[in-house]
Amino acid sequence: MALLDAATEERIQGGPGLPQQRRLITELPGPRSAAILARKAEAVPAGVGHTVPVAAVAAGGGVVVDADGNSLIDLGSGIAVTTVGNVHPKIAAAVAAQAAQFTHTCFMISPYESYIEVAEALNRLTPGDFAKKSALFNSGAEAVENAIKIARKHTGRSAVVAFDHGYHGRTNLTMALTAKSMPYKSGFGPFAPEVYRAPMSYPFRDGLTGPDAAARAISQIEKQIGADNLAAIIIEPIQGEGGFIVPAEGFLPALADWCRANGVVFIADEVQTGFARTGHMFASEIFGVVPDLITTAKGIAGGLPLAAVTGRAEIMDASHSGGLGGTYGGNPIACAAALAAIDVFENDGVIERAQQIGSILTARLRALQAQDPRIGDVRGHGAMIAAEFVDPETNAPDTALTAAVAKAAIAQGVIVLTCGTYGNVIRFLPPLSIGDDLLGEGLDVVAEALAAA
Ligand SMILES: *Cc1c(COP(=O)(O)O)cnc(C)c1O
Repeated sequence: MALLDAATEERIQGGPGLPQQRRLITELPGPRSAAILARKAEAVPAGVGHTVPVAAVAAGGGVVVDADGNSLIDLGSGIAVTTVGNVHPKIAAAVAAQAAQFTHTCFMISPYESYIEVAEALNRLTPGDFAKKSALFNSGAEAVENAIKIARKHTGRSAVVAFDHGYHGRTNLTMALTAKSMPYKSGFGPFAPEVYRAPMSYPFRDGLTGPDAAARAISQIEKQIGADNLAAIIIEPIQGEGGFIVPAEGFLPALADWCRANGVVFIADEVQTGFARTGHMFASEIFGVVPDLITTAKGIAGGLPLAAVTGRAEIMDASHSGGLGGTYGGNPIACAAALAAIDVFENDGVIERAQQIGSILTARLRALQAQDPRIGDVRGHGAMIAAEFVDPETNAPDTALTAAVAKAAIAQGVIVLTCGTYGNVIRFLPPLSIGDDLLGEGLDVVAEALAAA
Protein backbone atom coordinates (compact mmCIF):
# COMPACT_ATOMS: atom_id res chain seq x y z
CA MET A 1 0.00 0.00 0.00
CA ALA A 2 1.36 3.37 -0.97
CA LEU A 3 2.53 5.30 2.03
CA LEU A 4 2.63 9.02 2.15
CA ASP A 5 5.89 10.38 0.75
CA ALA A 6 7.60 12.91 2.99
CA ALA A 7 6.94 15.88 0.72
CA THR A 8 3.19 15.16 0.54
CA GLU A 9 3.06 14.59 4.27
CA GLU A 10 4.71 17.93 4.90
CA ARG A 11 2.33 19.66 2.48
CA ILE A 12 -0.78 18.13 4.01
CA GLN A 13 0.32 18.49 7.61
CA GLY A 14 1.63 21.95 6.85
CA GLY A 15 5.06 21.32 8.30
CA PRO A 16 6.13 20.88 11.89
CA GLY A 17 3.51 21.51 14.55
CA LEU A 18 2.29 19.69 17.62
CA PRO A 19 4.15 16.50 18.54
CA GLN A 20 2.28 13.76 16.70
CA GLN A 21 1.82 11.27 19.50
CA ARG A 22 -0.69 9.73 21.86
CA ARG A 23 0.34 10.74 25.34
CA LEU A 24 -1.71 10.22 28.48
CA ILE A 25 -0.34 12.03 31.51
CA THR A 26 -3.52 11.69 33.58
CA GLU A 27 -6.71 9.68 33.49
CA LEU A 28 -9.37 11.46 31.43
CA PRO A 29 -10.48 13.95 32.45
CA GLY A 30 -7.37 15.22 34.22
CA PRO A 31 -7.79 17.77 37.02
CA ARG A 32 -7.72 20.86 34.79
CA SER A 33 -10.19 19.45 32.30
CA ALA A 34 -12.38 18.26 35.17
CA ALA A 35 -12.47 21.76 36.64
CA ILE A 36 -13.41 23.29 33.27
CA LEU A 37 -16.07 20.63 32.65
CA ALA A 38 -17.52 21.31 36.12
CA ARG A 39 -17.92 24.94 35.06
CA LYS A 40 -19.53 23.74 31.82
CA ALA A 41 -22.12 21.85 33.85
CA GLU A 42 -22.93 25.07 35.74
CA ALA A 43 -22.88 27.50 32.81
CA VAL A 44 -23.99 25.49 29.74
CA PRO A 45 -27.28 23.61 29.50
CA ALA A 46 -27.28 19.83 29.75
CA GLY A 47 -28.75 19.63 26.24
CA VAL A 48 -25.37 20.63 24.82
CA GLY A 49 -23.61 17.33 25.49
CA HIS A 50 -20.04 16.23 24.79
CA THR A 51 -18.40 12.97 23.77
CA VAL A 52 -14.82 13.27 24.99
CA PRO A 53 -14.36 14.33 28.64
CA VAL A 54 -11.52 16.79 28.13
CA ALA A 55 -11.15 20.51 27.49
CA ALA A 56 -9.20 21.07 24.28
CA VAL A 57 -6.42 23.66 24.17
CA ALA A 58 -4.65 22.82 20.90
CA ALA A 59 -5.03 20.55 17.87
CA GLY A 60 -3.22 19.82 14.64
CA GLY A 61 -2.03 17.01 12.36
CA GLY A 62 -3.74 14.01 13.94
CA VAL A 63 -3.96 15.03 17.60
CA VAL A 64 -6.04 17.05 20.05
CA VAL A 65 -4.22 18.26 23.19
CA ASP A 66 -6.14 18.89 26.40
CA ALA A 67 -5.74 21.27 29.33
CA ASP A 68 -3.70 18.70 31.30
CA GLY A 69 -1.25 18.09 28.46
CA ASN A 70 -2.79 14.81 27.34
CA SER A 71 -2.47 14.30 23.59
CA LEU A 72 -5.31 12.32 22.01
CA ILE A 73 -5.39 10.73 18.57
CA ASP A 74 -8.16 12.37 16.55
CA LEU A 75 -10.25 9.95 14.48
CA GLY A 76 -13.25 12.30 14.32
CA SER A 77 -12.11 15.67 12.89
CA GLY A 78 -14.73 17.47 14.98
CA ILE A 79 -17.35 15.53 12.95
CA ALA A 80 -15.70 15.59 9.52
CA VAL A 81 -14.82 19.28 9.66
CA THR A 82 -11.05 19.58 9.93
CA THR A 83 -10.43 17.48 6.84
CA VAL A 84 -7.24 19.37 5.97
CA GLY A 85 -6.22 19.36 9.64
CA ASN A 86 -6.54 21.83 12.47
CA VAL A 87 -4.57 25.07 12.17
CA HIS A 88 -3.50 24.32 8.61
CA PRO A 89 -0.86 27.00 7.97
CA LYS A 90 -2.48 28.22 4.74
CA ILE A 91 -5.83 28.62 6.50
CA ALA A 92 -4.34 30.19 9.62
CA ALA A 93 -2.51 32.75 7.47
CA ALA A 94 -5.59 33.55 5.38
CA VAL A 95 -7.74 33.99 8.49
CA ALA A 96 -5.18 36.28 10.15
CA ALA A 97 -4.80 38.40 7.02
CA GLN A 98 -8.56 38.79 6.56
CA ALA A 99 -9.09 39.56 10.26
CA ALA A 100 -6.68 42.49 9.83
CA GLN A 101 -8.58 43.79 6.75
CA PHE A 102 -12.25 43.66 7.74
CA THR A 103 -14.27 41.14 9.71
CA HIS A 104 -17.79 41.94 8.46
CA THR A 105 -19.75 44.23 6.22
CA CYS A 106 -22.75 41.94 5.60
CA PHE A 107 -22.68 40.61 2.05
CA MET A 108 -26.25 41.85 1.55
CA ILE A 109 -25.13 45.41 2.38
CA SER A 110 -21.70 45.74 0.77
CA PRO A 111 -20.57 42.64 -1.10
CA TYR A 112 -16.91 41.58 -1.24
CA GLU A 113 -14.92 39.53 -3.71
CA SER A 114 -13.98 36.54 -1.53
CA TYR A 115 -17.63 35.42 -1.22
CA ILE A 116 -17.91 35.56 -5.01
CA GLU A 117 -14.66 33.61 -5.36
CA VAL A 118 -15.98 30.88 -3.05
CA ALA A 119 -19.18 30.74 -5.12
CA GLU A 120 -17.16 30.49 -8.34
CA ALA A 121 -15.04 27.68 -6.87
CA LEU A 122 -18.11 25.74 -5.73
CA ASN A 123 -19.79 26.22 -9.11
CA ARG A 124 -16.67 24.84 -10.78
CA LEU A 125 -15.95 21.95 -8.37
CA THR A 126 -19.43 20.46 -7.89
CA PRO A 127 -20.68 17.81 -10.35
CA GLY A 128 -22.54 18.89 -13.50
CA ASP A 129 -21.26 20.88 -16.46
CA PHE A 130 -24.16 23.31 -16.60
CA ALA A 131 -24.43 26.91 -15.39
CA LYS A 132 -24.43 26.96 -11.57
CA LYS A 133 -24.76 29.50 -8.79
CA SER A 134 -23.99 29.34 -5.06
CA ALA A 135 -25.32 31.10 -1.96
CA LEU A 136 -23.41 31.01 1.33
CA PHE A 137 -24.70 30.44 4.87
CA ASN A 138 -23.34 29.62 8.35
CA SER A 139 -24.22 26.01 9.08
CA GLY A 140 -25.27 22.81 7.40
CA ALA A 141 -28.81 23.09 8.73
CA GLU A 142 -29.11 26.61 7.35
CA ALA A 143 -27.90 25.43 3.94
CA VAL A 144 -30.48 22.62 3.96
CA GLU A 145 -33.28 25.03 4.95
CA ASN A 146 -32.33 27.29 2.07
CA ALA A 147 -32.09 24.47 -0.45
CA ILE A 148 -35.69 23.55 0.44
CA LYS A 149 -36.80 27.20 0.19
CA ILE A 150 -35.23 27.43 -3.27
CA ALA A 151 -36.73 24.14 -4.48
CA ARG A 152 -40.21 25.16 -3.29
CA LYS A 153 -40.00 28.56 -4.94
CA HIS A 154 -38.72 27.02 -8.18
CA THR A 155 -41.36 24.30 -8.42
CA GLY A 156 -44.30 26.06 -6.78
CA ARG A 157 -44.82 22.80 -4.84
CA SER A 158 -44.54 22.20 -1.10
CA ALA A 159 -43.88 18.54 -0.28
CA VAL A 160 -40.37 17.32 0.47
CA VAL A 161 -39.14 13.73 0.82
CA ALA A 162 -36.30 12.72 3.12
CA PHE A 163 -35.13 9.18 3.86
CA ASP A 164 -35.01 6.66 6.68
CA HIS A 165 -31.85 7.14 8.76
CA GLY A 166 -31.33 10.60 7.23
CA TYR A 167 -29.82 13.48 9.20
CA HIS A 168 -30.13 17.08 8.08
CA GLY A 169 -29.77 19.25 11.20
CA ARG A 170 -31.34 20.58 14.36
CA THR A 171 -33.45 23.57 13.25
CA ASN A 172 -37.20 23.13 12.96
CA LEU A 173 -37.37 22.21 9.27
CA THR A 174 -34.22 20.11 9.44
CA MET A 175 -35.46 18.26 12.54
CA ALA A 176 -38.51 17.35 10.47
CA LEU A 177 -36.20 16.06 7.72
CA THR A 178 -34.09 14.10 10.22
CA ALA A 179 -35.22 10.55 10.91
CA LYS A 180 -34.00 9.78 14.40
CA SER A 181 -36.05 10.88 17.41
CA MET A 182 -33.47 10.53 20.21
CA PRO A 183 -31.58 12.74 20.68
CA TYR A 184 -32.41 15.03 17.78
CA LYS A 185 -36.19 15.51 17.89
CA SER A 186 -37.73 14.06 21.01
CA GLY A 187 -39.91 16.66 22.73
CA PHE A 188 -38.96 19.46 20.32
CA GLY A 189 -42.00 19.36 18.03
CA PRO A 190 -44.35 20.21 16.44
CA PHE A 191 -42.27 19.87 13.31
CA ALA A 192 -42.52 21.58 9.94
CA PRO A 193 -45.32 20.17 7.75
CA GLU A 194 -45.15 18.63 4.27
CA VAL A 195 -42.10 16.52 5.05
CA TYR A 196 -42.43 12.83 4.15
CA ARG A 197 -40.09 9.91 4.68
CA ALA A 198 -39.18 7.22 2.16
CA PRO A 199 -37.28 3.95 2.66
CA MET A 200 -33.51 4.11 2.17
CA SER A 201 -31.29 1.55 0.47
CA TYR A 202 -29.42 -0.18 3.31
CA PRO A 203 -27.72 -3.17 1.68
CA PHE A 204 -26.51 -4.76 4.91
CA ARG A 205 -30.03 -4.86 6.33
CA ASP A 206 -32.45 -4.94 3.38
CA GLY A 207 -30.49 -7.03 0.88
CA LEU A 208 -32.18 -5.17 -2.01
CA THR A 209 -30.42 -4.13 -5.21
CA GLY A 210 -30.20 -0.41 -5.83
CA PRO A 211 -32.88 -0.38 -8.55
CA ASP A 212 -35.23 -2.47 -6.38
CA ALA A 213 -34.73 -0.20 -3.37
CA ALA A 214 -35.34 2.83 -5.61
CA ALA A 215 -38.51 1.28 -7.02
CA ARG A 216 -39.75 0.67 -3.46
CA ALA A 217 -39.10 4.31 -2.52
CA ILE A 218 -40.58 5.73 -5.73
CA SER A 219 -43.72 3.63 -5.46
CA GLN A 220 -44.28 4.89 -1.92
CA ILE A 221 -43.67 8.50 -2.97
CA GLU A 222 -46.06 8.26 -5.92
CA LYS A 223 -48.81 6.63 -3.87
CA GLN A 224 -48.53 8.65 -0.67
CA ILE A 225 -47.57 12.11 -1.97
CA GLY A 226 -47.81 12.27 -5.77
CA ALA A 227 -45.05 13.72 -7.94
CA ASP A 228 -47.19 16.77 -8.76
CA ASN A 229 -47.04 17.87 -5.13
CA LEU A 230 -43.37 17.19 -4.60
CA ALA A 231 -40.83 20.04 -4.64
CA ALA A 232 -37.72 18.05 -3.78
CA ILE A 233 -36.18 14.92 -2.45
CA ILE A 234 -33.16 15.41 -0.21
CA ILE A 235 -30.69 12.63 0.46
CA GLU A 236 -27.15 12.17 1.76
CA PRO A 237 -25.21 10.20 -0.89
CA ILE A 238 -23.63 8.34 2.03
CA GLN A 239 -25.59 8.84 5.22
CA GLY A 240 -23.58 10.37 8.05
CA GLU A 241 -25.25 10.36 11.48
CA GLY A 242 -27.55 7.58 10.22
CA GLY A 243 -24.67 5.08 10.19
CA PHE A 244 -22.47 5.68 7.14
CA ILE A 245 -25.00 3.77 5.08
CA VAL A 246 -23.78 3.42 1.51
CA PRO A 247 -26.75 2.86 -0.81
CA ALA A 248 -26.63 -0.05 -3.24
CA GLU A 249 -25.36 0.72 -6.71
CA GLY A 250 -28.03 2.21 -8.93
CA PHE A 251 -30.21 3.53 -6.10
CA LEU A 252 -29.24 7.18 -6.35
CA PRO A 253 -29.21 7.34 -10.18
CA ALA A 254 -32.70 5.80 -10.31
CA LEU A 255 -34.00 8.39 -7.85
CA ALA A 256 -32.31 11.22 -9.75
CA ASP A 257 -33.77 9.98 -13.06
CA TRP A 258 -37.24 9.82 -11.56
CA CYS A 259 -36.86 13.36 -10.18
CA ARG A 260 -35.79 14.67 -13.58
CA ALA A 261 -38.72 12.98 -15.31
CA ASN A 262 -41.15 14.47 -12.79
CA GLY A 263 -39.86 18.02 -12.35
CA VAL A 264 -38.73 17.27 -8.78
CA VAL A 265 -35.54 18.93 -7.51
CA PHE A 266 -32.90 16.35 -6.50
CA ILE A 267 -30.91 17.72 -3.54
CA ALA A 268 -27.74 15.94 -2.40
CA ASP A 269 -26.92 16.83 1.20
CA GLU A 270 -23.12 16.62 1.06
CA VAL A 271 -22.60 18.48 4.33
CA GLN A 272 -20.69 15.49 5.75
CA THR A 273 -19.49 13.76 2.55
CA GLY A 274 -18.20 16.84 0.72
CA PHE A 275 -14.69 18.15 0.10
CA ALA A 276 -12.42 15.14 -0.42
CA ARG A 277 -13.74 13.28 2.64
CA THR A 278 -14.79 10.23 0.60
CA GLY A 279 -11.73 10.23 -1.67
CA HIS A 280 -13.68 12.25 -4.23
CA MET A 281 -14.33 15.97 -4.10
CA PHE A 282 -18.03 15.10 -3.68
CA ALA A 283 -19.59 11.72 -2.93
CA SER A 284 -22.19 12.15 -5.69
CA GLU A 285 -19.33 11.42 -8.11
CA ILE A 286 -18.94 7.90 -6.65
CA PHE A 287 -22.49 7.03 -7.65
CA GLY A 288 -22.53 8.86 -10.99
CA VAL A 289 -25.31 11.23 -9.96
CA VAL A 290 -25.50 14.90 -10.82
CA PRO A 291 -27.72 16.63 -8.26
CA ASP A 292 -29.76 19.71 -9.10
CA LEU A 293 -28.72 21.27 -5.79
CA ILE A 294 -25.90 20.36 -3.38
CA THR A 295 -25.63 21.47 0.24
CA THR A 296 -22.14 21.68 1.75
CA ALA A 297 -20.64 22.79 5.06
CA LYS A 298 -18.46 20.74 7.42
CA GLY A 299 -15.21 20.28 5.49
CA ILE A 300 -15.48 23.52 3.53
CA ALA A 301 -13.34 25.94 5.55
CA GLY A 302 -10.99 24.10 7.92
CA GLY A 303 -13.27 24.65 10.92
CA LEU A 304 -14.58 28.15 10.26
CA PRO A 305 -18.39 28.22 10.10
CA LEU A 306 -19.46 28.33 6.46
CA ALA A 307 -22.05 26.49 4.39
CA ALA A 308 -23.37 26.67 0.85
CA VAL A 309 -26.15 25.75 -1.52
CA THR A 310 -24.86 25.22 -5.05
CA GLY A 311 -26.92 24.23 -8.04
CA ARG A 312 -28.43 24.77 -11.44
CA ALA A 313 -28.54 28.50 -12.13
CA GLU A 314 -32.19 28.49 -13.22
CA ILE A 315 -33.23 26.83 -9.94
CA MET A 316 -30.94 28.96 -7.76
CA ASP A 317 -32.35 32.10 -9.40
CA ALA A 318 -35.94 31.20 -8.49
CA SER A 319 -36.03 33.48 -5.46
CA HIS A 320 -36.88 37.18 -5.69
CA SER A 321 -34.11 39.58 -4.63
CA GLY A 322 -33.77 39.67 -0.85
CA GLY A 323 -35.36 36.24 -0.38
CA LEU A 324 -32.08 34.53 0.51
CA GLY A 325 -29.29 35.57 2.81
CA GLY A 326 -28.63 36.35 6.46
CA THR A 327 -26.55 38.72 8.52
CA TYR A 328 -23.45 36.57 8.69
CA GLY A 329 -23.81 34.25 5.68
CA GLY A 330 -20.52 34.10 3.79
CA ASN A 331 -18.59 35.96 6.51
CA PRO A 332 -15.31 37.28 5.05
CA ILE A 333 -13.08 35.40 7.51
CA ALA A 334 -14.90 32.15 6.78
CA CYS A 335 -14.61 32.85 3.04
CA ALA A 336 -10.86 33.48 3.37
CA ALA A 337 -10.56 30.15 5.20
CA ALA A 338 -12.62 28.39 2.54
CA LEU A 339 -10.49 29.75 -0.30
CA ALA A 340 -7.35 28.54 1.48
CA ALA A 341 -8.95 25.15 2.17
CA ILE A 342 -10.05 24.82 -1.46
CA ASP A 343 -6.48 25.59 -2.55
CA VAL A 344 -5.32 22.73 -0.32
CA PHE A 345 -8.04 20.37 -1.62
CA GLU A 346 -7.12 21.11 -5.22
CA ASN A 347 -3.33 21.28 -5.03
CA ASP A 348 -1.95 19.36 -2.05
CA GLY A 349 -2.84 15.73 -2.73
CA VAL A 350 -5.71 15.65 -0.25
CA ILE A 351 -8.06 13.52 -2.34
CA GLU A 352 -5.32 10.91 -2.83
CA ARG A 353 -4.64 11.02 0.90
CA ALA A 354 -8.31 10.35 1.64
CA GLN A 355 -8.12 7.29 -0.63
CA GLN A 356 -4.97 6.03 1.14
CA ILE A 357 -6.59 6.48 4.54
CA GLY A 358 -9.63 4.63 3.24
CA SER A 359 -7.46 1.69 2.17
CA ILE A 360 -5.73 1.57 5.56
CA LEU A 361 -8.98 1.79 7.52
CA THR A 362 -10.82 -0.73 5.36
CA ALA A 363 -8.01 -3.29 5.34
CA ARG A 364 -7.58 -3.10 9.10
CA LEU A 365 -11.29 -3.23 9.93
CA ARG A 366 -11.93 -6.10 7.50
CA ALA A 367 -9.09 -8.05 9.11
CA LEU A 368 -10.69 -7.46 12.50
CA GLN A 369 -14.08 -8.48 11.09
CA ALA A 370 -12.60 -11.75 9.81
CA GLN A 371 -11.66 -12.66 13.41
CA ASP A 372 -14.62 -11.13 15.18
CA PRO A 373 -18.16 -11.74 13.91
CA ARG A 374 -19.48 -8.97 16.17
CA ILE A 375 -18.37 -6.64 13.36
CA GLY A 376 -21.28 -7.24 11.01
CA ASP A 377 -20.34 -4.77 8.30
CA VAL A 378 -17.45 -2.52 7.29
CA ARG A 379 -18.40 0.17 4.80
CA GLY A 380 -17.74 3.64 3.48
CA HIS A 381 -15.46 5.44 1.06
CA GLY A 382 -12.17 7.24 1.56
CA ALA A 383 -11.68 8.69 5.01
CA MET A 384 -15.34 8.06 5.88
CA ILE A 385 -15.41 4.43 7.02
CA ALA A 386 -17.55 2.70 9.64
CA ALA A 387 -17.93 -0.63 11.41
CA GLU A 388 -21.44 -1.81 12.37
CA PHE A 389 -21.56 -3.95 15.53
CA VAL A 390 -24.11 -6.75 15.80
CA ASP A 391 -25.11 -9.86 17.67
CA PRO A 392 -23.44 -12.49 15.44
CA GLU A 393 -26.37 -14.91 15.87
CA THR A 394 -29.17 -12.59 14.82
CA ASN A 395 -27.48 -9.54 13.21
CA ALA A 396 -29.41 -7.46 15.75
CA PRO A 397 -27.70 -4.12 16.44
CA ASP A 398 -25.38 -4.26 19.47
CA THR A 399 -25.63 -0.76 20.89
CA ALA A 400 -24.10 -1.63 24.26
CA LEU A 401 -20.98 -3.17 22.71
CA THR A 402 -20.54 -0.15 20.46
CA ALA A 403 -20.81 2.27 23.36
CA ALA A 404 -18.36 0.19 25.42
CA VAL A 405 -15.76 0.08 22.64
CA ALA A 406 -16.02 3.81 21.98
CA LYS A 407 -15.81 4.63 25.69
CA ALA A 408 -12.77 2.42 26.22
CA ALA A 409 -10.99 3.84 23.16
CA ILE A 410 -11.59 7.40 24.34
CA ALA A 411 -10.33 6.54 27.82
CA GLN A 412 -7.14 5.32 26.15
CA GLY A 413 -6.73 8.60 24.28
CA VAL A 414 -8.34 7.88 20.92
CA ILE A 415 -11.24 10.08 19.83
CA VAL A 416 -13.84 7.94 18.04
CA LEU A 417 -17.45 8.79 17.28
CA THR A 418 -20.47 6.52 17.14
CA CYS A 419 -23.49 6.92 14.89
CA GLY A 420 -26.40 4.99 13.42
CA THR A 421 -30.12 4.81 14.00
CA TYR A 422 -29.41 2.01 16.49
CA GLY A 423 -26.23 3.62 17.86
CA ASN A 424 -24.31 0.52 16.83
CA VAL A 425 -21.81 2.02 14.40
CA ILE A 426 -18.34 3.41 15.07
CA ARG A 427 -17.37 5.89 12.40
CA PHE A 428 -13.84 6.82 11.44
CA LEU A 429 -13.38 10.36 10.14
CA PRO A 430 -9.70 11.14 10.69
CA PRO A 431 -8.23 14.42 9.58
CA LEU A 432 -6.34 13.78 6.36
CA SER A 433 -3.32 15.38 8.02
CA ILE A 434 -2.92 12.37 10.33
CA GLY A 435 0.18 10.27 9.81
CA ASP A 436 -0.01 6.54 9.07
CA ASP A 437 1.67 5.62 12.38
CA LEU A 438 -0.82 7.53 14.46
CA LEU A 439 -3.75 6.19 12.44
CA GLY A 440 -2.45 2.65 12.96
CA GLU A 441 -2.00 3.21 16.68
CA GLY A 442 -5.53 4.59 16.95
CA LEU A 443 -6.87 1.45 15.25
CA ASP A 444 -4.76 -0.75 17.57
CA VAL A 445 -6.44 0.90 20.55
CA VAL A 446 -9.91 0.35 19.06
CA ALA A 447 -9.04 -3.30 18.35
CA GLU A 448 -7.88 -3.77 21.97
CA ALA A 449 -11.04 -2.12 23.23
CA LEU A 450 -13.13 -4.50 21.12
CA ALA A 451 -11.18 -7.56 22.28
CA ALA A 452 -11.68 -6.52 25.92
CA ALA A 453 -15.40 -5.70 25.57
C1 LIG B 1 -23.93 17.85 10.23
C2 LIG B 1 -24.92 17.72 9.14
C3 LIG B 1 -25.92 18.69 8.92
C4 LIG B 1 -26.11 19.86 9.84
O1 LIG B 1 -25.00 20.70 9.83
P1 LIG B 1 -24.81 21.77 11.01
O2 LIG B 1 -23.64 22.59 10.56
O3 LIG B 1 -24.55 21.00 12.25
O4 LIG B 1 -26.06 22.56 11.07
C5 LIG B 1 -26.75 18.53 7.83
N1 LIG B 1 -26.62 17.49 7.01
C6 LIG B 1 -25.69 16.54 7.17
C7 LIG B 1 -25.59 15.41 6.21
C8 LIG B 1 -24.81 16.62 8.26
O5 LIG B 1 -23.89 15.67 8.45
